[in-house]
Amino acid sequence: GANKDETLICCLYSKASQGELGWISYPSHGWEEISGVDEHYTPIRTFQVCNVMEYSQNNWLRTNWIPRQSAQKIYVELKFTLRDCNSIPLVLGTCKETFNLLYLETDDDQGSHFREHQFSKIDTIAADESFTQTDLGDRILKLNTEVREVGPLTKKGFYLAFQDVGACVALVSVRVYFKKCPYTVRNLATFPDTVPMDSHSLVEVKGLCVNHSKEEEPPRMYCSTEGEWLVPIGKCLCNPGYEERSNTCQMCRAGFYKSALGNLECSKCPPHSFSHHEGSLHCGCEKNFFRAEGDPASMACTRPPSAPRNVISSINETSVILDWSWPEDTGGRRDVTFTVLCKRCRGVTANGSNSGTQRCEPCRSNVRFLPRAAGLHNTTVTVGDLLAHTNYTFEIEALNGVSALAPKMRQYAAVTITTNQAAPSPVTVIRKEKTSRNSVSLSWQEPERPNGIILDYEIKYYEKEEQETSYTILRARGCNVTLNGLKSNTAYLLQIRARTAAGYGASSPTFQFETSPDSFSISSESSQVVLIAISAAVAIILLTVLLYVLIGRFCCRSKSKHPDEKRLHFGNGHLRLPGIRTYVDPHTYEDPSQAVHEFAKELDASCIAIDKVVGAGEFGEVCSGRLKLPSKKEICVAIKTLKGGYTDKQRRDFLAEASIMGQFDHPNIIRLEGVVTRSKPVMIVTEYMENGSLDSFLRKHDAQFTGIQLVGMLRGIASGMKYLSDMGYVHRDLAARNILVNSNLVCKVSDFGLSRVLEDDPEAAYTTRGGKIPIRWTAPEAIAYRKFTSASDAWSYGIVLWEVMSYGERPYWEMSNQDVIKAVDEGYRLPPPMDCPATLYQLMLDCWQKERNNRPKFEQIVSILDKLIRNPGSLKITANTTSRPANLLLDRSSSEVPSMGTMGDWMDGMRTLPCKEAFSGVSYSSCDTLAKTSTEDLKKVGVTIVGPQKKIVSSLKALDSHTKNGPVPV
Ligand code: AMP
Repeated sequence: GANKDETLICCLYSKASQGELGWISYPSHGWEEISGVDEHYTPIRTFQVCNVMEYSQNNWLRTNWIPRQSAQKIYVELKFTLRDCNSIPLVLGTCKETFNLLYLETDDDQGSHFREHQFSKIDTIAADESFTQTDLGDRILKLNTEVREVGPLTKKGFYLAFQDVGACVALVSVRVYFKKCPYTVRNLATFPDTVPMDSHSLVEVKGLCVNHSKEEEPPRMYCSTEGEWLVPIGKCLCNPGYEERSNTCQMCRAGFYKSALGNLECSKCPPHSFSHHEGSLHCGCEKNFFRAEGDPASMACTRPPSAPRNVISSINETSVILDWSWPEDTGGRRDVTFTVLCKRCRGVTANGSNSGTQRCEPCRSNVRFLPRAAGLHNTTVTVGDLLAHTNYTFEIEALNGVSALAPKMRQYAAVTITTNQAAPSPVTVIRKEKTSRNSVSLSWQEPERPNGIILDYEIKYYEKEEQETSYTILRARGCNVTLNGLKSNTAYLLQIRARTAAGYGASSPTFQFETSPDSFSISSESSQVVLIAISAAVAIILLTVLLYVLIGRFCCRSKSKHPDEKRLHFGNGHLRLPGIRTYVDPHTYEDPSQAVHEFAKELDASCIAIDKVVGAGEFGEVCSGRLKLPSKKEICVAIKTLKGGYTDKQRRDFLAEASIMGQFDHPNIIRLEGVVTRSKPVMIVTEYMENGSLDSFLRKHDAQFTGIQLVGMLRGIASGMKYLSDMGYVHRDLAARNILVNSNLVCKVSDFGLSRVLEDDPEAAYTTRGGKIPIRWTAPEAIAYRKFTSASDAWSYGIVLWEVMSYGERPYWEMSNQDVIKAVDEGYRLPPPMDCPATLYQLMLDCWQKERNNRPKFEQIVSILDKLIRNPGSLKITANTTSRPANLLLDRSSSEVPSMGTMGDWMDGMRTLPCKEAFSGVSYSSCDTLAKTSTEDLKKVGVTIVGPQKKIVSSLKALDSHTKNGPVPV
């Protein structure tokens, strides 16, 4: 192969061996040198011997002395023919079919000196193929090739010898050679001819980098004993300006460059650059093009940008906004910034034209640039604090990374403006010169920028106490004034503003001064008397107050567990009827744990036995268990725990619920038994409600209660809510899931808290105004602007009413929160649940009045429900029969749904609610009517709803069938 090289060092081979070779043959009748021709009639020279008839043959043929050169191991390739003894008659016993190959190492040519015994045998050579005389007398010549290795050789040269012992042999060719790893170039390193070692080890050879290249990692290769190059390691890289071409490093052609060491190709010069010579490391920039420091060699040469264009100025009194467009030519760079130079010029007319010579000077340093004057990335700047009625020239220059290299090429756009008249800047320094009981003298400094001639100053002052409800205004021409007729010993506030032809400037900051007190003209003795008298009076007053507070506290503790008197101080501004307790926000307590202990009993953990987990709350598990207080009956309780690892705030929020609950005492409000705060886990213990939360309870018992039973539950909730609203407590999260039901079907309002109530409720969604709100249960005004009141609780009550009457159906089904907000806002209301008594549906609609003052109060709700209970017959009239009250009728004049134009259609729409049920198993024939509602109709309704198509239609029809003008309140 290309790696292997055989170096011939001898001897007998056809074409080269023309003349006598001079090999020694001994004895002389043995080997004979014979010239002949091969099968192609090419003359060849052979050595032959064929003494097969005689015994004891010992014929030697010795080569000339062969210098070893650098070889350690040589190869001898023999080509010969050998005659098969069988084919020769009568030679049995004398004919042989092998001959011996031998060698002798010497340091010099020994001429004809020859001794048999000095030779060492290399091998006995036998023929692979011998030739036979055929029957026809033809001789078939068969050439054998045998190769033998000899080595290691140490002397300078050697002889080979062929010993014949009675065969019929013709030596046609003897090639003696050694192998070497030939000169080669790998990875741009040259490796010289290398003779392998005789032993089995490899020769490590270091390569030399080719011209114009540098070593990256020292190049090395190994030469094997077989003369093969193995394992190239390391490499060389072409120098900058050179690239690799067929194992050499060649100069880059003109128009190309290579700036770095490496085996990359040369690159074409980037735009606006050139290289006239071969081997360029860089391309030079064309005239008027440049490279900024740090620009890579591969980047095009660039030039400074052209001037900004279309400068527009808009003057506002003494400030100007300058706007311009990007330059037409950015010079080929992206790092364009703008710099604005301000010059104040004289000799320019107001319309901006030049009236002859112009004298310009740089603007004063107090001119303000917004965002700044230099390095602007945007094409606008605001220049403020200019002088009024003054001419300015602004030079706006676009700069890029090469602007500094070509100062002569820089261009700018200029704009000349004249500022307008401007009001004076505010007076900032006011001094009090003299004060007396009824007057004060003040002086001040003229404004920093009067922007014209100051006509006068306006001085406005008023008593600090009066808070500007009445004030006095004075005018002064100069920078001082004396204010007379003031009250003694009184604090006054004052502001000054200057006026020019341009009007008033901004007012000064408010300045405060006090008039002197009335001076006593009494002796030091009598002043002492006065002092003592005053001190005594103060002491008496303080004592009285102290006594009053102490007595008040004592009474409060002995009278009730609720410190009502204290609450008066915390009252949230609501006007409350006397005798009714007011809810106290525990957050008004500086220390919330004080609030807990004020309203909740601390229980000993040993009195509580936990039975099992019944639910999961935000702060930890909710368990059922028993509470046994000394000398009391054991009762079932629910225990809310605060899980470990809580923060201070979490503990506070957790206990806030107990602080609130503890203030309530009503059969329809979940009762607090107490709290455990002194040991861990922290617990809130309440009465146990066997049937859990109302929504899941109703879903579990779908259609299993009588109307009276449902109304009874609703009455309880309303009664609890009446109590809460009387206390001034707004629940904010009234929903069936927050009502608990006990084994007697008594419903109780639960889930109290402050902000946390909503944070915990999975129904609560974030509104655009921030804060979490359970959209479906919340009144529009509470969603829109967080107006939470008992009236918004009434709205929620209407939703609970709907939830109860539909046995835990989800309000507005799967409409999105956004769609709910939109639909409710547009006047749509939930339809009556199936078989819902008309009066109850009426009550729902009333609770969902847009105008919150029109919603019924909880007191009214309770009395409506009471009347219903007393007169159960009234429950028979259901909302979805023809005898619906007239005021529930949809406002048909605004109806946009033609297919629902009649009362009959509306009723069909109503029956879609059973259809909703159809999807959960039961089927109703009235579903056919659904088909009438086209998708167009859906769009007209203006709400987009996701969910199964039929359900969408059912929800929509139901929604649409309700009044936009709301019914008359009860
Ligand atoms: P809460 O953290 O108040 O929402 O309570 C989580 C769950 O615990 C509720 O949904 C109820 O199933 C259950 N739970 C809470 N309080 C009670 C109670 N007093 N009696 C029975 N179960 C309750």
